[in-house]
Amino acid sequence: MKKKLLSEILNETGELRENYFHSIAPPIIQASNFSFDTVEEFRTALQNESEAVLYSRGNNPTVDILRKKLAALDNAEDSLVLNSGASAIFASVVANVASGDHIISVRKPYGWAQHLFEKFLPRFGVSTTYVDGTNVKNFEEAIRPETKIIYLESPNSWTFELQDLKAVAALAKDKGILTICDNSYCSPLYQRPIDYGIDISFQSATKYLNGHSDVVAGVISGTKEMMHKIFSSEYMTAGLGITPFHAWLMIRGLRTLPLRLKKSAETARLIVSYLKTQLEVESIAYPFDPLFPQYSLAKAQMEDTGGLFSFVLKADSIEKIERFCEGMQHILMAVSWGGYESLVMPSIAGKPGNTIDLSDPEHRRIRMYIGIEEPEYLIEDIARGFAAMKKA
Ligand SMILES: *Cc1c(COP(=O)(O)O)cnc(C)c1O
Repeated sequence: MKKKLLSEILNETGELRENYFHSIAPPIIQASNFSFDTVEEFRTALQNESEAVLYSRGNNPTVDILRKKLAALDNAEDSLVLNSGASAIFASVVANVASGDHIISVRKPYGWAQHLFEKFLPRFGVSTTYVDGTNVKNFEEAIRPETKIIYLESPNSWTFELQDLKAVAALAKDKGILTICDNSYCSPLYQRPIDYGIDISFQSATKYLNGHSDVVAGVISGTKEMMHKIFSSEYMTAGLGITPFHAWLMIRGLRTLPLRLKKSAETARLIVSYLKTQLEVESIAYPFDPLFPQYSLAKAQMEDTGGLFSFVLKADSIEKIERFCEGMQHILMAVSWGGYESLVMPSIAGKPGNTIDLSDPEHRRIRMYIGIEEPEYLIEDIARGFAAMKKA
């Protein structure tokens, strides 16, 4: 497929301006259903609901603009836009397994993917094996005759381990196994798993694609055939589509995606350099740091990194970690990432107090997301956190 230039995708792909008074920004077609002049047209629409303008649980003209842009960004034949990244995980996995099937997943995938594999799918007779995805051999050794899916997340969003996407895709193709990759960290600007042979690439569009901390959404991309399969099962059965208003906000967010991502990545690099000079920091996990264990794979596979990284604090008490996070005034303490605002999340926030063990560096890990603020504004704030941490 011929690759389109980014500006063409963001400014033109999917837009039908002649249909709406040549307005530059598309309208929000806030309608549940659409009418027909003839029974024949009505019948045709009912037979091809994923393309037709018929009913907004299936397809909606505002959502369709976004769908075409997202497919083009992923360099895929087609996409589906969903009401969350979790829906994207659910639909792409569940559409491709049946009772008795087996999944191989990279270890510690996104939390709700773990929930799907460990709590939900076993109720329907589907089992999952986790492997260390840093070595392709581990996938090969875990393959069984009933393995249907290899589930990847490269890099993950806490410790940033990568999988060699080309090698895993080749292995899976050879064995007739479907590959699914969570590409939320890179976004299609910095990594296109489909170009590496991955069957389904998906993202939490809540993060960079929307980018303004006001929409929860997801996107799945792949072949037309696969998108049709997912559309006519999970997407329509569970009603997983995005609403026209949320799609409209996301089209608006997408216009500035390249600018936001570039700024976020550039500033993150400056903050990582600053943190490396700080005595309170024991180690940093950032894929483009030459000390990162998979640095060369990261450089080969990803165009850039985005603004998310994590570091381990040298802290001998829970209070020090709390004072560091609470001492910053600009960098907000919250889940998620990918918006305009910088965020911090200590791993201890996700653990009951009596299970925290600071001898385990993972319990002293802090995840930081760098937004589009000036670097000095952020460095001054992090310094404020370190000062609060040291205060007895
Ligand atoms: C946020 C996130 C998800 C889930 O997406 P939602 O939009 O919150 O449903 C999945 N994977 C990764 C890596 C994420 O960061």
